[in-house]
Amino acid sequence: MPPYDTIIIGSGPSGLTAAIYATRANLKTLVIAGQVAGGQLMLTSEVENYPGFPNGILGPDLMDLWRKQAERFKADFVDDNVTKVDFTARPFKAWVGDQTHEGRSVIIATGANAKYLNLPNEQRLKGHGVSACSTCDGFFFKNLDVVVVGGGDTAMEDSLYLSKLCRTVTVVHRRSEFRASKIMQQRLFKTPNIKVAWDSEVSDVLGETKVEAVRVKNVKSGATEDIKVQGLFVAIGHVPATEVFNGQIDLDKGYIVLRPHDGYQTSTSVDGVFAAGDVHDHHYRQAITAAGFGCMAALDAEKWLQAHE
Ligand code: NAP
Repeated sequence: MPPYDTIIIGSGPSGLTAAIYATRANLKTLVIAGQVAGGQLMLTSEVENYPGFPNGILGPDLMDLWRKQAERFKADFVDDNVTKVDFTARPFKAWVGDQTHEGRSVIIATGANAKYLNLPNEQRLKGHGVSACSTCDGFFFKNLDVVVVGGGDTAMEDSLYLSKLCRTVTVVHRRSEFRASKIMQQRLFKTPNIKVAWDSEVSDVLGETKVEAVRVKNVKSGATEDIKVQGLFVAIGHVPATEVFNGQIDLDKGYIVLRPHDGYQTSTSVDGVFAAGDVHDHHYRQAITAAGFGCMAALDAEKWLQAHE
């Protein structure tokens, strides 16, 4: 079988947008979608900030429509994980178990996963008061009280964003100082409806069907307190899904490093391999920005293939 024009690895907003653009440009396209296809939106309930849906849409429903749109233009799909890649020679190779797929170009769109605390009740109440995305879900907590966990820039940014919507924000941090940039810390300390629980960790999330309180333990004294809140925002970092690319492509703290050249904005350190979405973008991390990157990567791959015929 001749190699695909492009192999897209990942099937969240960036991967499926890349697939729509690649197939409509007549590129023979394989999407290796992953075992848990659809990306982070599959774990979200209502999505209200994706343009085109005035009444909002459920995350899984949005991804279902997205997938159907990609399938309409005849991309091939493999619903499994890539287990190994070889980008050292062309055509590039991607394995799913013992099955090898060859592509003249590759678009990596494997995304990143938010880290959670891994408490049983936190997992149970995901989407029912527990969130890892303040921009996505903050609006649902208007005039309510929330806890944010973490001490990095994301926790500061999330807390500041939420302070404009929520009645109170309590930042729970496991140490007595933040690791966030000083300027973000200063903004946080100046905001009247944000307070900080230092040296503290969330030990449990309480509530039957939705979050009703968060149990916070002081790690120095061992004392626990139940803080009555309706939301828990976990902001302790993300893990990019790049393990399988280790040694094949330049990574920085796990994220793919883009090396733009010759007008290809989404190029990686390997010529002909492009990256799109949260797998390289740890800054914006939105479905719409990921979709934008997916479009860019497909346009880059198409132009690159033309130049390398
Ligand atoms: P981060 O800098 O790694 O910070 C993660 C925070 O979560 C740390 O304070 C850490 O505590 C805490 N944490 C980690 N695991 C925990 C656990 N299991 N339980 C409780 N707390 C835990 O992650 P980030 O804030 O997402 O930032 C990632 C990168 O993006 C950084 O380079 C950051 O500067 C950048 N960023 C920049 C901006 C901006 O410039 N506007 C905004 C967002 C992110 P410890 O401090 O005790 O380790």
